[in-house]
Amino acid sequence: MALLQIAEPGQSQAPHQHRLAVGIDLGTTNSLVATVRSGLASTLANEQGQHLLPSVVRYLADGSKIVGEQAKAAATEDPHNTIISVKRLMGRGLADQKRLGSEFVYQFRPSQEGMPAFVTVQGDKTPVEVSADILATLKQRAERTLGGDLKGAVITVPAYFDEAQRQATRDAANLAGLPVLRLLSEPTAAAVAYGLDQGAEGIHAIFDLGGGTFDISLLRLHKGVFEVLATGGDAALGGDDFDRAIALWLMQQAQLAEPSPSQQRALMMAACQAKEALTHQSCAYIDLAEWQGDLQRAQFNTLIAPLVEKALRVCKRALRDAQLTSRDILEVVMVGGSTRVPLVREKVAEFFGRQPLTSIDPDRVVAIGAAIQADILVGNKPDADMLLLDVIPLSLGLETMGGLVEKVIPRNTVIPVTRVQEFTTFKDGQTAMSIHVLQGERELVQDCRSLARFTLTGIPPMVAGAARIRVVFQVDADGLLSVSATEMSTGQKSEIMVKPSYGLNEQDISRLLTESYQSAEADKQARALHEEKIESQQLLEAIRAALREDAKLLCEGELSTLQEAIKHLDIALGSSQRHIIEKARLALVPLSDAFAARRMNQHIHEALSGHKLSEWE
Ligand code: ADP
Ligand code: MG
Repeated sequence: MALLQIAEPGQSQAPHQHRLAVGIDLGTTNSLVATVRSGLASTLANEQGQHLLPSVVRYLADGSKIVGEQAKAAATEDPHNTIISVKRLMGRGLADQKRLGSEFVYQFRPSQEGMPAFVTVQGDKTPVEVSADILATLKQRAERTLGGDLKGAVITVPAYFDEAQRQATRDAANLAGLPVLRLLSEPTAAAVAYGLDQGAEGIHAIFDLGGGTFDISLLRLHKGVFEVLATGGDAALGGDDFDRAIALWLMQQAQLAEPSPSQQRALMMAACQAKEALTHQSCAYIDLAEWQGDLQRAQFNTLIAPLVEKALRVCKRALRDAQLTSRDILEVVMVGGSTRVPLVREKVAEFFGRQPLTSIDPDRVVAIGAAIQADILVGNKPDADMLLLDVIPLSLGLETMGGLVEKVIPRNTVIPVTRVQEFTTFKDGQTAMSIHVLQGERELVQDCRSLARFTLTGIPPMVAGAARIRVVFQVDADGLLSVSATEMSTGQKSEIMVKPSYGLNEQDISRLLTESYQSAEADKQARALHEEKIESQQLLEAIRAALREDAKLLCEGELSTLQEAIKHLDIALGSSQRHIIEKARLALVPLSDAFAARRMNQHIHEALSGHKLSEWE
């Protein structure tokens, strides 16, 4: 076994030694790897000179696997063993399986980690394993091109990726033997590629139209940090839909009512070629077995206009969510192959009232931004003035009594971050506490996403509210969360690394955000109701405990008045009307106060027993 080498002191990190680091855009359709050489970021090609690696893996019966172009070519002939669009499944749970079943041709089986796994000739493959195969291919490409071992990579993820999806991405990198410097959100990477982090403070829009998905992100640059003001998107809108629109038109021209599967494939391929040609020409010649002819750009524009409109409606909604108008946007960055389409550029320019940034290849812009970050993070630019920071996309919090969520770290907090908050017990003698970690903007547990639960035990019995439980939320630079809870008098501690139950998708995330905007008022009322309920329950709890000990201090009439009031509040608690509960509670409060006063007199001033309390009426 080889011995590990240790350098002489002071020589190990020679100042000009360049460390190999890459940025990786792990895309739904295509993936890329980029690096900074001689101060310039560029993407790396394979031996055939191709930069884009189709995000497709094919598993063969002989135990080998193919990644990329060749695998993509086999997708129709060997669909079950050829995995495409795996990114849509990263960090997803079995709960999503039904929906996914209709969207994908694959057979799924639950894996041990609780994610769906693809059933292939090589056995079950989880989305993490498939992604790892894509990452390993890019790692090899980089090491071959750059001639050395990679010190680290920055991998991009969509802005709306939640903890589970980020963790799955990180797991895939680990499996591929790729040290992750950090995960970076795709729109932030695109903004960095254009150097917007070095420019004026303000709000930028990142318009990302790829093969199958559309994403819009509004980022605000403030003190060198990009905050995500809003995200929006459509998980089923992209260049593939442009292809479909052309294919449908072709079917009409060729009078093909029910094309066979092979005719369908030919139609889609011809459509895609024509579409891409129309980016540079005003007319594309299409040559099908059943039909030959021209597709004019004007005709193409008519076919896709409704799809472009759909994307712009999403932009409008995102602006509204962030309470902005298009005039507030400083720069618009174009990302994704489909933003090459002239009509898309034209409509985006019209919508935002400015020319979008398109000078960097929209396929490569995310990988290039990631490479620039990787170069800084690995230490190649010791004088780089500022490290670009990221923020958490959705607030993190804990469940408190009554199903309320107490936010511990609000969304858009810069990471890494540590926040400490103290909580206490609800009941006398409580010895354990259930810690429920949630993510989302809403006030009620049921409206947020459950990330993890654990129990802190060994709390010494004390009266309610006396125990001090210190809860620490820590989010590392990749947005991964760990939570610990410590009982302060004993030091008893429990903690959890949040590897959440899988199952939230991008629509859910944007829905959670949108709902939080829309239901702020309803939430405020719901919160008030819950708070009223908790206060009432606490009051009942306290009075009942007191009665168990000191009911003898009350005469019969006093006792029945008190019990009557308790009963009223108990019944009122079944109501969902806050004012009804409040009224019952306020009726009980003076009785309770008087009883408490009498108990105090009894306990502290025994000598004064028998003293008539005027409050008791
Ligand atoms: P993803 O983000 O989903 O991985 P990409 O950003 O790689 O996707 O974009 C792929 C889409 O871009 C495909 O639909 C492809 O046809 C389209 N595309 C690529 N080049 C062009 C072009 N020159 N003109 C129009 N569309 C293009
Ligand atoms: Mg993309």
